[in-house]
Amino acid sequence: MFQLTIWSLPPLAAAALTFAAFMRARPQRRVPGGYALRFFFLTLFFWSAFNTVATLVTSERAIFLATQFAYLGVSLAPVAWFVFALTYSQRVVRISRHALNTISALPLITMLLALSNSSHQLIWIDLRFVTADGFTGLVTEHGFWFYVHAVYSYALILVATAVLAFALTQNKQHHQSLLAAVFAPVIAVTTNLLSLSPWFPYPFLDLTMIGFVAAVLILDVGIMRRGLLNNAPVSRERIIEHLKDPVLVLNHDGEIIDANQSALNAWDHEFSLLTNNIDQLIPRLPTDILISPESNSEITINQRAYEIASTPLDPTNTESQVAIVFRDVTERRAAIDALQSTKAELQRMAHTDALTSMHNRRYFMERLQSEFERVVRHGSVLSVLLFDLDHFKKVNDTYGHDIGDAVLIAIAEVVKQVKRTTDIACRFGGEEFALLLPETDKIGALNLAQRMRRSIESYPYASRIGHNVKVTASIGVATLTHTDQAPESLLKTADRALYKAKDGGRNMVCVNND
Ligand code: GH3
Ligand code: MG
Ligand code: MG
Repeated sequence: MFQLTIWSLPPLAAAALTFAAFMRARPQRRVPGGYALRFFFLTLFFWSAFNTVATLVTSERAIFLATQFAYLGVSLAPVAWFVFALTYSQRVVRISRHALNTISALPLITMLLALSNSSHQLIWIDLRFVTADGFTGLVTEHGFWFYVHAVYSYALILVATAVLAFALTQNKQHHQSLLAAVFAPVIAVTTNLLSLSPWFPYPFLDLTMIGFVAAVLILDVGIMRRGLLNNAPVSRERIIEHLKDPVLVLNHDGEIIDANQSALNAWDHEFSLLTNNIDQLIPRLPTDILISPESNSEITINQRAYEIASTPLDPTNTESQVAIVFRDVTERRAAIDALQSTKAELQRMAHTDALTSMHNRRYFMERLQSEFERVVRHGSVLSVLLFDLDHFKKVNDTYGHDIGDAVLIAIAEVVKQVKRTTDIACRFGGEEFALLLPETDKIGALNLAQRMRRSIESYPYASRIGHNVKVTASIGVATLTHTDQAPESLLKTADRALYKAKDGGRNMVCVNND
């Protein structure tokens, strides 16, 4: 009934291994190729398990039945491998049910013919049971349909292997797993062809099963143990290709050696990317992009702003190729620029007097503080000049507020003409003005004050304002004497001098140094 011989070992080993592989492939079944690979292991398991049974039983009917049932696996294994190759290499992301039915049709016919062989003998013509060295085995001669099946199966495996081999040439990341996926079927097919050949000297040695053992071990090490079923090999390339951001790959000389579709769409018609150097596209490429391992910069190409990030493809090699990803930040850049100019305008407004466009009191106080600190640090001199228009209320009362305003604008003009470029002038409030005079001692400040007073008095108001307005100013001058003074006290001193000038009869310059 049963026999226990060495010839059971190859199919038994294959059955055990393919079953283990089938179980192991389970956790990764959601990734591309996962389902197909698992199904592939199942077909090999059926094939080898029924071959094992055929070596263990002695009844001719049982041997033949087991050989027939092995075709559950024999017929479908190439289809499973074909689907695996296509999905794993991402050639076809989803195999449609229709396509699956089409490629499975012939194997299903093979399976049915194998099970019903006695009525047509299309798979096996001649079945001989041979007993030698205490082992009963089946020696067969194949029928017509077997060769149809064989050609079809080898064609599927050939296409699958070619697809995987192509993926291998495109993909450096998953080199080892793709190599395994190419090498495993080569071993299985070679052993299968050998065992089918009429010259193979050991009729009972199932070499195909030994081939399965080798193939499964290769796939296990190359694909499953490395967890690479979690990463479809070509998917990364697809990601780069479909990325919205342009990506360029440069060699160390700055020649563009690769460009994704976005880059081609954006620039190729103008710059003919792949025949050019990067400085054709970006004339002032920040040098650190090619030198430093990972750098970011912003550049402009065709009036669009890009944030560029570079990454060396081989960080251990200083001459490595560099991938540059371009993120279009034109809209963001425009928003930032608008924000910045608004900010600058706000800042300008915060420091400017609306009527005269002179600096305002806030700006004056800031500059007073910083000029004061400079004096403390470098021991230079600093003076302040404060002036107030005389009887200005009368100007308003006589000519109206608008004319008063026009006079104030004219005064701003006078101040601008009289002051030196380093002096800081402002409208201090109302009809009161102040000047900060860096590097100016008391004599210098008094001179300037007198010139200012005279200029205000003699300005041809009539030509500008249309009225011969009489305008004079009283001016107070103060010079910093002790650096332990607070900056504000310098202003107070000038203010006191100003009041002295008012008290003294107006249209005069006074100095108060205490
Ligand atoms: P004095 O300083 O010589 O003592 O007399 P004054 O009339 O100039 O002094 P006062 O401080 O009493 O009045 C200041 C006047 O300045 C009152 C106000 O009408 C006028 N004034 C202040 N700011 C403005 C302004 O922005 N536009 C106009 N047109 N007038 C202003
Ligand atoms: Mg006043
Ligand atoms: Mg006044």
